[in-house]
Amino acid sequence: MSAQARTSTRRWRALRARILAASDVCHLCGLPGADEVDHVVPVALGGAEWDPVNLAPAHGGCNRRKGARLHMPAARTPMRTRDREVCADGVVRMVPRSREW
Ligand SMILES: [Zn+2]
Repeated sequence: MSAQARTSTRRWRALRARILAASDVCHLCGLPGADEVDHVVPVALGGAEWDPVNLAPAHGGCNRRKGARLHMPAARTPMRTRDREVCADGVVRMVPRSREW
């Protein structure tokens, strides 16, 4: 399903409203006031399209800067993705956790 087709459905609007009601802190820049819902792992890269676990609040501008990537270059590492590391070459790598929580 294309992004345009998805966002015009009642199902998407309900899901989006639920995510934004839970939090309006943008997962890309860490500031409140998010007005869109972003796929943490982009659908284009195999992310789950309808799974709330893969959805996070984002500003429209941040969302578009990110595009179909896993992470914005040079962005502050958000809480949700703190186990990922953006390396100097822009590649996102999963960092194995060594600490016990
Ligand atoms: Zn933002």
